[in-house]
Amino acid sequence: MSRFISERYVNMAPYIPGEQPKDSHFIKLNANETACPPSPKVLEVLASSRMNNLGRYTDPSSMELKKAIAQNYNLKTDQIITGNGSDELLGYIFLTFFERSRICYPDITYGFYKTLADAFAIDQQEIPLKQDFHVDINAYIKSDRHIILANPNAPTGYVLPVSQIEKIVAAKPDRLVVIDEAYIDYGNESCIPLINKYDNLLVIHTMSKSRNLAGAHIGYCLGHKTLIKDLENMRGVLNPFNLSDINMAVGTAAIYDKDYLKSSIDAIIETRDYTTEALRKLDFYVLSSHTNFIFVSHPWLSAAEYNAQLRNLGILARHYNSPERIKNFLRITIGTKEEMAAVIAATKKILLKIAA
Ligand SMILES: *Cc1c(COP(=O)(O)O)cnc(C)c1O
Repeated sequence: MSRFISERYVNMAPYIPGEQPKDSHFIKLNANETACPPSPKVLEVLASSRMNNLGRYTDPSSMELKKAIAQNYNLKTDQIITGNGSDELLGYIFLTFFERSRICYPDITYGFYKTLADAFAIDQQEIPLKQDFHVDINAYIKSDRHIILANPNAPTGYVLPVSQIEKIVAAKPDRLVVIDEAYIDYGNESCIPLINKYDNLLVIHTMSKSRNLAGAHIGYCLGHKTLIKDLENMRGVLNPFNLSDINMAVGTAAIYDKDYLKSSIDAIIETRDYTTEALRKLDFYVLSSHTNFIFVSHPWLSAAEYNAQLRNLGILARHYNSPERIKNFLRITIGTKEEMAAVIAATKKILLKIAA
């Protein structure tokens, strides 16, 4: 640390993402991304003459992409802010609404919330998931704190119905509720329609998962226009041209290609169900996933050992050392059918080897 760092940031520590090896022979199932290409419409726009214009700054309001999103969800453009991944927007939300305030979120969830809360010294409370890893709704209904929930949650893969979320949002209008719907597209009901009814709700989406665009890194946040205006002001202070013209073009093309989104999702769900069934046959406990990953444990093969053995066989998954009660679980992203067949084959090998 240098002697120049602002005092309030001396405890700042970056988020640690899943390993990104340069060595591409790994089957990479550790960051919930995908080996599938983006929509052909995305590739088309990247090869188009539009890219000749990159010498110019783009439209700082990202209106082209906002219009696509507005049309897709039947919203107005002033209910939308776009960003470089949902992580950028989470940063704006924490800075704009949570500094000098109090927040809560589950003890087992997306680690970036804690990263941000720690960095900005926000008063944070972790509310334990119930014993069965489901969200304790009543604890959130009762809390006076602002709330951030990933729905479906990661790494459990469990989802809350919109009716339950609405109960939390409606319980206390002077508290902001942020719902991170990174995995909503995998067959779940979104709470986006609620933003027309409540002015204390923000919903965040990413194109990194279901739209096969983690490498582009595009996200958007939806909410009441007054909330969005506050966030737009923060964005205008920190990064007025946050979305490159490349990402604007890529994101817009991806939003309009609904057929490709549907086929990507259908493939993941089918492969997820196949993988779940195959692992259950091998005595794994597999939480019923509503996402593009599964969270698994085994009665006598420890998760740490399983992870290490998979790595030896060229397969990367994600293991968490804390909290204690998820230590014996491994999170495995659902890849292509071929990749998951390789996981099953490797798992059989590992079980035979350890049992011997
Ligand atoms: C992947 C993920 C994100 C990050 O999305 P980006 O748009 O790639 O920044 C946010 N929230 C959750 C719960 C995620 O799993």
